[in-house]
Amino acid sequence: MSKEYSMKRVVESILNCTKCQLCKYRRKPVPGEGPLDTEIMLIGEAPGASEDEEGRPFVGAAGKLLTELLEKNNISRSSVYITNIVKCRPPGNRDPEESEINACLPYLIEQISIIKPKIIVTLGRHAGRVIYKLMGKSFQSMSREHGRVVKGVIRQLGLDVTVIPTYHPAAALYKPDVRRILEEDFKKIRSLITSSKTISKSGSITLDVFLKKG
Ligand code: SF4
Repeated sequence: MSKEYSMKRVVESILNCTKCQLCKYRRKPVPGEGPLDTEIMLIGEAPGASEDEEGRPFVGAAGKLLTELLEKNNISRSSVYITNIVKCRPPGNRDPEESEINACLPYLIEQISIIKPKIIVTLGRHAGRVIYKLMGKSFQSMSREHGRVVKGVIRQLGLDVTVIPTYHPAAALYKPDVRRILEEDFKKIRSLITSSKTISKSGSITLDVFLKKG
């Protein structure tokens, strides 16, 4: 089964999903977007108002900041796959509940199994916590974990990954100190991509294709 076909099936399931109460409030589910042959996934928490309206991830103010952070580090947004832990918007932008995260998690695991990323950047506490849990690790706190380069295995898939947790861009919109941290963390992400070219020696794509020239 091709990656495209597999992802199409996941997306269709998400678009028709009623597995948790968030289906009652959403306008459009937000499955995620990006190339399926990428080696980098960015995983946020849940769609906000703009994403709910457009059905695309990170298109509001936080999304603009995310794009800016990527571009500043010569990483093309169109070269990475972007999604969220929870695919439908929680009402009033509240945190997703544990039952909602658990109901939605199989979609994310399927997406990871299709893409098989080498690097996962988690954006925000919930995303960090969930991905750590999938690796059998415990997420202490955002202030402690952000910017760390954590190697592990997504146990259900037997997939080796390198994870860098950082803050959600929404947290940096009105907090200059968080923004500074986020900028530093993205420099580390850029360095990891640059220094990880060897990771993909046996793969068909080298990581430097994700870095824009010039
Ligand atoms: S949040 Fe996930 S589990 Fe809940 S309705 Fe949306 S797609 Fe389904």
